[in-house]
Amino acid sequence: MVKDIQSSSNTRRPLIVMKFGGTSLGNAERMQKVAEILQENAQRADLLVVVSAMAGVTDMLVRSATQASLGVEKQWKGSRQELAHRHREVADQLLSASEQAGILPRLAEQMKHFEDLCSGFTLVREVTPRGMDTLSSLGEVMSSTLVAAILRSRGLKAEAVDATELIVTNDNFGNASPLFEETNAKARERLSGLRRHNVVPVVTGFRGATSEGLCTTLGRGGSDYSATILAAALDADEVWIWTDVDGVMTADPRLVPEARILPEISYREAIELSFFGAKVLHPKTIQPVMNKRIPVWIKNSFNPSCPGTKIVASPANGQSGVKAITSVKDADLITMSSKNTLTFPQLAARVFEGLALEDVSTLTVTQSSADNVLSFAIHHGDFPRVKARLEKIFELEMLHDYVGVLEVMPKIAVVVMVGEHMKGTPGIAGNAFGALGRQGINIIAIAQGSSELSISFAVKASDMKAAVEAVHEEFHL
Ligand code: ADP
Ligand code: ASP
Ligand code: MG
Repeated sequence: MVKDIQSSSNTRRPLIVMKFGGTSLGNAERMQKVAEILQENAQRADLLVVVSAMAGVTDMLVRSATQASLGVEKQWKGSRQELAHRHREVADQLLSASEQAGILPRLAEQMKHFEDLCSGFTLVREVTPRGMDTLSSLGEVMSSTLVAAILRSRGLKAEAVDATELIVTNDNFGNASPLFEETNAKARERLSGLRRHNVVPVVTGFRGATSEGLCTTLGRGGSDYSATILAAALDADEVWIWTDVDGVMTADPRLVPEARILPEISYREAIELSFFGAKVLHPKTIQPVMNKRIPVWIKNSFNPSCPGTKIVASPANGQSGVKAITSVKDADLITMSSKNTLTFPQLAARVFEGLALEDVSTLTVTQSSADNVLSFAIHHGDFPRVKARLEKIFELEMLHDYVGVLEVMPKIAVVVMVGEHMKGTPGIAGNAFGALGRQGINIIAIAQGSSELSISFAVKASDMKAAVEAVHEEFHL
């Protein structure tokens, strides 16, 4: 499709997908900055814009749905006022008079939709995952309506597009997975005409729809993923993810203020970092663009002249060793042991089957085959489901004491050192553990990632910040 457009237009303009996160869209001033960035880049490239909800809006929507389902009307009625006020304020400040006339009734309709949904949840005292997805992603519908209208007010051709018309997903509400073939066909069909007519599509991030048209979401922080799904569908030249930091850094800057920007990292490093908690990217972001080798840039909308971080298959200065430290807090360490009647492979097979049935990923896994002991860390949010599932799977064995009860160490954190070819660099683990030892931090479990580009260790959650700082300093990051 992209080739068709290119041949029909002769002048080859690159296609760049630009995604803006919530903080980049926090208020009228921020939105104006976004419009300036887009206007400037539209001179050089065809743009496809993906937007998150305005900062804090998704949290507010989730809270409203929950409170409504408990029969509490006060909270969501208050949120209704606040949502209307924040979006209205942007419309008042940044839209031309003619755009205001068209957009204010649309914002009012969206607020009516919010009210109808919350009243419904209050009435039935329940919010289904399906209802939650429709409500929690309403912020993206509102922000895309506004951003498209702001661009039009500045003389650009732009149209708000609901991703429920583009991204087809399975029905795993709350954390849906895209069906790529259907998505590619739909996105190309819907967006190619806009590109041909030089119209900038402003697409809602975070949401999609099942093939029956039911609204789904891609998981919290999922707008990054929306951007790369669409980039792959349209064979875009690049993806630019605009956020509130200068790029991917050597550590979470909230934990380590001295953290430095990484000018270039590999897809594999980005996947590892995002899987292990670097919030700057949704964990699935890289997956759609990896095979097509579409570069992803992380840039700061508060500091657009900074080049940011480029994420590619093979960075030009592919250095070995530790590049960044990341961490996952709110994890639990589960230990299971079996007597000789159940071999270690049998124990492990059944544990992992249980995790697969619950669609839960482990953060680290360690074993002692001799003692038939298996330990693994998971996100605390997954714990109730995992516990229930494993107790069911091993119900009889636990009754007969062939398998020990699930031992749980709560409130741990997993700290991960990430870098290509770490395995080939001697002394990394030793140096890291030395640094932790000097700080008096006890290591609960250690694992080297089988991808060979991460080494992770579990510590008490209360030691996490000190552990990240100690390792960051040890490797002079
Ligand atoms: P957005 O709203 O733009 O999607 P997010 O809040 O989801 O932004 O992600 C950006 C945040 O990710 C940063 O403000 C930073 O605090 C956090 N972060 C965590 N780890 C890292 C890291 N290694 N590099 C950069 N930012 C990180
Ligand atoms: N607005 C959604 C969230 O807060 C999606 C995103 O920001 O990427 O989770
Ligand atoms: Mg984000």
